[in-house]
Amino acid sequence: MPDESLPQDACGVFGVWAPDDEVAKLTYFGLYALQHRGQEAAGIATSDGRSLLVYKDVGLVAQVFDESSLASLRGHLAIGHCRYSTTGRSTWENAQPTLGGTSGGTVALAHNGNLINSAELREKLADAHGGDLRYASGEVGRGNTTDTALITGLLTADEDRTLESAAMEVLPMLRGAFSLVFCDEQTVYAARDPQGVRPLVLGRLERGWVVASETAALDIVGASVVREVEPGELIAIDEHGLRSRRFAESARKGCVFEYVYLARPDTSLNGRSVHEGRVEMGRLLAAEHPVEADMVMPTPESGTPAAIGYAEASGIPYGAGLVKNAYVGRTFIAPSQTIRQLGIRLKLNPLKEVIRGKRLIVVDDSIVRGNTQCALVRMLREAGAAEVHVRISSPPVRWPCFYGIDFATRAELIANGLNIDDICASIGADSLGYISEKGMIAATKQDPDELCTACFSGVYPIGLPEENQRGKDVLELEFPVRDGVDPTDVGTLDVQEHDSHQGTMLDVDGVPIGSSVGGSEALTRP
Ligand code: SF4
Repeated sequence: MPDESLPQDACGVFGVWAPDDEVAKLTYFGLYALQHRGQEAAGIATSDGRSLLVYKDVGLVAQVFDESSLASLRGHLAIGHCRYSTTGRSTWENAQPTLGGTSGGTVALAHNGNLINSAELREKLADAHGGDLRYASGEVGRGNTTDTALITGLLTADEDRTLESAAMEVLPMLRGAFSLVFCDEQTVYAARDPQGVRPLVLGRLERGWVVASETAALDIVGASVVREVEPGELIAIDEHGLRSRRFAESARKGCVFEYVYLARPDTSLNGRSVHEGRVEMGRLLAAEHPVEADMVMPTPESGTPAAIGYAEASGIPYGAGLVKNAYVGRTFIAPSQTIRQLGIRLKLNPLKEVIRGKRLIVVDDSIVRGNTQCALVRMLREAGAAEVHVRISSPPVRWPCFYGIDFATRAELIANGLNIDDICASIGADSLGYISEKGMIAATKQDPDELCTACFSGVYPIGLPEENQRGKDVLELEFPVRDGVDPTDVGTLDVQEHDSHQGTMLDVDGVPIGSSVGGSEALTRP
């Protein structure tokens, strides 16, 4: 579902320790491979063992970095991040890696996931600074309103602790989803929450190590996959090699939506090829919801593997009925009203010669608000389709996610309050079928007890925050900026900055650029 109404992921992280390589460029290409996980901001921190430098800005990875900025990022270790916001608004100040430090050194940290006890952690950080957050080190006192900046602040709250010992104390305090990559001047660290909600993998270079959100990013920088960073594990990589410590017992609850839509198809999650899993979802969908038709087609590209599986299992020919503009991502450009009205056509264009007169089965990965499918069905009918049958390779999304995916508020989810027939009528399809939860889980080949399915089932494996502490704006206005401090001036920290160019424009989907979706009423608003 290539539009902004589909679930947005909450970041990609990458880290590398490689004395013989250009670590900034490796990180750039690693982030480039992870761009689908976050398109709002990107950043890289490097260290040469003595000083740590961060470069970050809003925009796509290729927009933020060029040859000269990468050339200025020297060293033998690096971490990087591409962001989609879940806690803290989409502004320059909230880009990552976040910085902090003690008199003993600097810390840069990148985070994929979302914490559910941010308010409690804010209290702990305030307590560590005499009750006044304005005196917290790093970016918290400078207006950064992310849960990530809180982690960085807590890691650097005690001048007398090493970063590794601070991590062993702070990581058990965090609740929710966190796949972290962080570093100081000498060492790269990686840590994953005890549930392992978001992916994080370890790879090997000829002379070095890589950690990344997805195995596809390891492939792209020429690293071989070693293993997952285990849920509850802290890894440290420095000149002495790699060491692993456990800060919590593993209680695995991997996000099933990574298999459905979020991860790249060429990634492998806990031993299961994402592409294979999606093809199998399509096969099972065909068995559960057969229909007579002339052609099976995907909504490119997220629906493609499931459409292949559906065609294979049903015996109905597979065809491509839509062409996707390969270069449309998040544009950051405010279109005119005339252009916005084109909506989905900016991204997808039907192949009339292929579609005309045919009974179509259109396979997509999920329906969130339903506006994309509604526009799609209308477009296919206008292009001459005789019938349009919609098949979805995940169950109805009825509940919001608090672990790093920004779906929508519950009220905005089309499956909340409408039955399947109503949804079918509202998107204008001839028929509609969703795969069952059982079928989706079977296709992942994971133990059902080790998956999070909360957005489909409403069963949340990690306790939720209080009602008034939900939503991405929970920390806004709660971080008082020190008197006389310009939040965009990062002072003595070694940061290179671009001008912030966030505004209140709307993007091509009518979504305000840089403003929040969701909120504190995400779960309870009927
Ligand atoms: S609620 Fe849904 S999207 Fe969020 S972690 Fe669980 S399965 Fe993934």
